[in-house]
Amino acid sequence: MRVGFLLQRLARGARPCALCGINDSAEGPLCPDCERDFVSPLVPRCAVCAIRLPASAATVCGACLRHPPHFDATLALGDYAPPLDGMVVALKAGGRLALAADFGALLARRAQRIERAGALLAAVPLAFERQAERGFNQALEVARRAARDLAVPLDADALLRVRHAAPQHELALAERRRNVRGAFTVRADVRGRHVLVVDDVMTTGSTLDEIAAVLKQAGAARVTNLVVARTP
Ligand SMILES: [Zn+2]
Ligand SMILES: [Zn+2]
Repeated sequence: MRVGFLLQRLARGARPCALCGINDSAEGPLCPDCERDFVSPLVPRCAVCAIRLPASAATVCGACLRHPPHFDATLALGDYAPPLDGMVVALKAGGRLALAADFGALLARRAQRIERAGALLAAVPLAFERQAERGFNQALEVARRAARDLAVPLDADALLRVRHAAPQHELALAERRRNVRGAFTVRADVRGRHVLVVDDVMTTGSTLDEIAAVLKQAGAARVTNLVVARTP
């Protein structure tokens, strides 16, 4: 009975939901229930930094109004909270690279409506030691699939980490800003282009703000962040 059910499912090209593992995923890695519950595009978020907003609030949060960051927009799949946080950790620490493709596919669907003419995809680079230790950059792996689905070229070397910074999670907000200053350089010709910057987790946004600053300095016309999970 169970085997028959699985064969039927394979014949339809369906696979189990990457999150609950129970329902079939229809047209993405997640089943419609999990998609609605955990990565819904209907959750009200700041258009600039993707922080969750109260339902009736304006489209830009107070922090972004007071101190506009260098990036123009951020799209986040969901909050860095269960179960999405566990999936991110499984990708990063557990090496479950299939999840990178799942996240990339979901981000590409989320980004269908953004301006893609002449756009370029980049990924936040890991510190050299971290990458050597882990063997891959999770943001780049997510970006590969997003690039394919969006039909936007990915430049894996567009951003380079030039200076070692202390791990951000050990620092307070003001220190985080100082810590990443001068940490990145741009190695692609981004003049006049819309750059889509992929990262796995956005916490304070200090790293993405610094990256957007160097991209704008290098002539980028617009910077949009595509992040898997946003700290609530
Ligand atoms: Zn599910
Ligand atoms: Zn904001």
